[in-house]
Amino acid sequence: MKYDLHSHSTASDGSWRPEELVKLACRQQVDVLALTDHDTTAGLEEAKQASEKHGLRLIPGVEISVTWKKRTVHIVGLNIDPAYQPLQQGLKELRSFREWRAVEIGRKLEKVGIENAFEGASAYAKGSLITRTHFAHYLVEKGLAKDMRDVFKHYLVMNKPGHVSGAWAGLDQAIDWIRGAGGQAVIAHPARYRMTSTKLRELLSDFVECGGECLEVVSSSHSRDERHIMAGFANTYNLHASCGSDYHGPENQWVALGKFAEFPEGCRPVWESERWQTPVEFSGSIKDSVA
Ligand code: AMP
Ligand code: MN
Ligand code: MN
Ligand code: MN
Repeated sequence: MKYDLHSHSTASDGSWRPEELVKLACRQQVDVLALTDHDTTAGLEEAKQASEKHGLRLIPGVEISVTWKKRTVHIVGLNIDPAYQPLQQGLKELRSFREWRAVEIGRKLEKVGIENAFEGASAYAKGSLITRTHFAHYLVEKGLAKDMRDVFKHYLVMNKPGHVSGAWAGLDQAIDWIRGAGGQAVIAHPARYRMTSTKLRELLSDFVECGGECLEVVSSSHSRDERHIMAGFANTYNLHASCGSDYHGPENQWVALGKFAEFPEGCRPVWESERWQTPVEFSGSIKDSVA
């Protein structure tokens, strides 16, 4: 069985609609796909219908933006029931913050002579929630950077003209929403935060204390060494291991849906956890959908 437990659609900053993503997953021989859009579950209904049509198991998921000790950390929720109201309420607040932040990013970019960035990014978001990825697409379109990586480095990160600091959910809040929705919380791409091992241990112990269960040991953004380090942490903190591409679309030629390394030895895959054995039933209860 091939599992890809981290992916994005046009409901957030991915380039394929949920149905296209599911079809692509089938072509890539993925058996179990989690759709984990940033701060929204709007793509799940379409993805679920497509998964039934094309014969793939869809895991309803989400990737929640969290501020932990002034750093942004991403917490994936797997096997969530999207009808759980406190989760939806929390995500709605995060999306309001995103709207406000996007206007601010636009203002800040204007100060360095880049006009209409908010409008440009909004056009890429096409009515779905707005992310820095949408700003990046616009700035690349305007010829301000050669590619996505370059645009983030020069415009959208700390100490750069378009940076606005985040005030996302608390770690405890995000985990409560996920667990309340019947799901399992996963620390996404842990090596991407560039934390010292002391900081990462602090995060892991806070995460476990709040009821987190799983660490994304394998991610497209992890090197071989990072996978082994994370496998070690998963075992030390008694966490299940997850794996995912974090696929966003064809623009990033380095990442493919369903294509990444195996777990290092000794990992306990999240699909062997007890929770995983009872699939989530969800339907019709999600009012928002993909634009
Ligand atoms: P946001 O949640 O709006 O702050 O946007 C974060 C998203 O930007 C991430 O989920 C990635 O998809 C994307 N991103 C962040 N850093 C980079 C980077 N260096 N290169 C390409 N995409 C990035
Ligand atoms: Mn993203
Ligand atoms: Mn992420
Ligand atoms: Mn992601």
